Amino acid sequence: MITKEEKEEIMYNLRIIGDVTIDDEKYKKILLETLLKLPEVIREKILEEVLFIFTSAYGTTFNLFFPKQAIEQKCIILNPALHEKEKKTDEGIQDVIAHEIAHIILNHFGSNDPNFEKEADNLIEKWGFKRAYKDYTRFNFMREKKWQ
Ligand SMILES: [Zn+2]
Repeated sequence: MITKEEKEEIMYNLRIIGDVTIDDEKYKKILLETLLKLPEVIREKILEEVLFIFTSAYGTTFNLFFPKQAIEQKCIILNPALHEKEKKTDEGIQDVIAHEIAHIILNHFGSNDPNFEKEADNLIEKWGFKRAYKDYTRFNFMREKKWQ
């Protein structure tokens, strides 16, 4: 059982930049809940290494993290406004956050290998989250279109 003090410590160690709005406060809580569901070693690693960026600047883009080559800081970009628009439940948002965390843990940087999406979802299932995607074929399509 995680105590209130431990939760406060996690919030204190959590590094977030971006638009700070009231909605973001709600979103921070969802992020905390996500971290609490992770195995402790994973949580510690994420708190130590990852900068979370809240932004609406990406418009309709899904979550991304910067390729390692472009920036040394491991980042997870989250778009609360998009999740709001998609009417995602809190659990649904947790699944998305966990999926991005899985990419970090699996060292999925600078590539969009469609297998990465499956691997990330396999891992989050082990952590008790729901898979982020049902269909992985669109990643093949995106690969052809965008990231040659
Ligand atoms: Zn992914």
